[in-house]
Amino acid sequence: MTIRTMISPARYVQGPGAIHRLGEHVAQIGSKPLVVADDVVWGFVGHDVEASLSAAGLPVDRRGFGGVPSAKEVDRLVGEITSSGADVVVAVGGGSTIDAVKAAGHLAGVRWANAPTVASTDAPCSALSVIYTEDGEFEAYRFFPRNPDLVLVDSQIVANAPAEFLIAGVGDALATWLEARATSRSGSPTMAGGLPTVTGTALAQLSWDVLWENALPAIDAVRDKQVTPAVEKVIEANTLLSGLGFESGGLAAAHAIHNGLTSVAATHGLAHGQKVNLGSVAQLVLEGAAPSDLREFIEFTTAAGLPTTLTEVGIRPDDADTIRAVATAATAEGETIHSMPFEVTPNDVAAALTSIDRHATRIRNNAHLPTPKPYTTQH
Ligand SMILES: [Zn+2]
Repeated sequence: MTIRTMISPARYVQGPGAIHRLGEHVAQIGSKPLVVADDVVWGFVGHDVEASLSAAGLPVDRRGFGGVPSAKEVDRLVGEITSSGADVVVAVGGGSTIDAVKAAGHLAGVRWANAPTVASTDAPCSALSVIYTEDGEFEAYRFFPRNPDLVLVDSQIVANAPAEFLIAGVGDALATWLEARATSRSGSPTMAGGLPTVTGTALAQLSWDVLWENALPAIDAVRDKQVTPAVEKVIEANTLLSGLGFESGGLAAAHAIHNGLTSVAATHGLAHGQKVNLGSVAQLVLEGAAPSDLREFIEFTTAAGLPTTLTEVGIRPDDADTIRAVATAATAEGETIHSMPFEVTPNDVAAALTSIDRHATRIRNNAHLPTPKPYTTQH
């Protein structure tokens, strides 16, 4: 294949108070929106969304979201969209709501827009959804012929959310460069259905650079619900740069290992970006990364509050059967791990994962960073 492809949403809007302009932007897309938001999200943004749509002369029709972007939930939302007669569906919430709404909007044949209330994943900008089983296990990627017509992020709403969401988004977005770099080296196709453009690969690298400079001050700022220039840059890196970078730059081992981790029930309470970060550490090990690169990545992401060990995602490093199951799922046919510039077997993944805990613990102890604590769903 020699065709290169770059895709993106039609419009990206970000800033404090952006939610007040949702109506004017949605009015350019359709005249009968259906808003999908869960009750918690609607409790804190519903008033502003209603006011903004009404001010733009649009009707307000909101439906709930079941919590997991499963095939069943997508089909339920298709029914809601169809029966409402909506011509545009607007997801308000996190990555799960957005993934379900994109898939439902596609099947219902309407346009779609996303208003993420957290910057925890790079789901909002892409033309694909990740579908999970109702238990939260990775099931499939679904690809659509177009990206969202609008992605609108209110930075103050993102800063008001618990910092853990932004931290998870940093984990998801740091993986973007590691995976795009691997994809560009192997000459594999990206999620956009062609070879990477230099643009897609460069955006993935820019996401990494922005996060390396701004993630720690931004995480500190959102703990006090403040929007600083660093917070704005990290929201953009997590949402726009990482979204364009992963889709048009390519996924590789880190996300495949994330998908493998979702086959273990103990990990289901963790955010996508937390599991992706362990996938990034494992990818660096698989690549035979320079010791200093691996050390810096473990130190930086530990300081950011991300897991860098199996222990922290609820898997004991001596649990060979579970690690084997993760490795098998991560290397399934069609997984993005096969975009790595070398062959990766289940044995390779199991060895990389098993080696991480002892090494990451040593690095963290030497850097006076916290020793890994076991993750349990009781946390
Ligand atoms: Zn991701």
